[in-house]
Amino acid sequence: MASVVVTGITGQDGSYLAERLTGDGWDVHAIVREGTRPDEQEVTPGVTVHAGDLLDTDSLRAVIDSVEPDLIINLAGISSVAQSWTQPELTARVTGLAVSGLLAGAWALQERLGRPVRFVQASSSEMFGAATERPQTENTPLKPVSPYGAAKAYAHHLVGVYRGRDLFAASAILYNHESPRRPETFVTRKITSGVARIVNGDEPKLLLGNLDARRDWGWAPDYVDAVLRIAQADTADDFIVATAVEHSVRDFVAAAFAAAGIADWEGFVELDPRFARPVDAPVMVGDNTKIRTTLGWVPTRSFDEIVQAMVEHDLALRSS
Ligand code: GDP
Repeated sequence: MASVVVTGITGQDGSYLAERLTGDGWDVHAIVREGTRPDEQEVTPGVTVHAGDLLDTDSLRAVIDSVEPDLIINLAGISSVAQSWTQPELTARVTGLAVSGLLAGAWALQERLGRPVRFVQASSSEMFGAATERPQTENTPLKPVSPYGAAKAYAHHLVGVYRGRDLFAASAILYNHESPRRPETFVTRKITSGVARIVNGDEPKLLLGNLDARRDWGWAPDYVDAVLRIAQADTADDFIVATAVEHSVRDFVAAAFAAAGIADWEGFVELDPRFARPVDAPVMVGDNTKIRTTLGWVPTRSFDEIVQAMVEHDLALRSS
């Protein structure tokens, strides 16, 4: 049975990935920080949990050396752009530097075993930041505008460095991807749970930082499927994973209220500067031609279907 080490298993993507990998028959190992180790219910059954901390690259190397995986998938990191502004150094270490330890560990293991060890990095559209073109492609220059984007850019470059050193080191350049498992630190879930609170009479308003930002929002399980295709491709490469369709935060708000049967939403939403970013990428939209044509990946859910699924989930949570 092929074995895989996954970081970030307790996050949105990690949970979907664990379900896919165990379902597909992989021997799945997860590196989880001690102290925040989730209880059994929170980790997908069949996943072996190892203690390790992204701030301690020796602990990552120890897990890699003992499991001797065929594949390492790095989903871990400070994943919130907003949080990266309050904790820029932690972001650099966890989202950036830790990848150096994982790659060095993968390369050393490959040398020791004399067989390939594959590595897939969850890169991010935030690396493009003040993008020079729209939509962005795999060749668009990286111009991050947040500590998160800068840390992801460092890690992304390092993946390329190790690819040049004969490691199968690939990256999935993931655009925003959502689901009912998204935490409320992200605007989509904040909106859908806010709509549910308003419908339920729990809160009068939804406070947002900015309605004009435009993002390319996809369905998280589709993006996990893309990561697996990238991991199993013939050659290691970088792939944009995006729907190629952009919407504004305002569009998301309108669609979410509409999904709850509210057409006139303006009175329920207020701008609050506390939620505005010091600098924000105005538009992120990706060209998915390469992954569609090379790996046969297609997004399965439209923007409206994603909003609908998230609103239905949050309405059901509040009514139960
Ligand atoms: P990001 O694109 O990875 O930063 O994902 P987010 O879901 O956190 O943010 C998406 C966009 O929504 C960004 O342009 C944010 O500035 C914008 N946004 C507007 N209001 C809010 C808010 O209240 N919370 C968050 N998280 N984002 C907001």
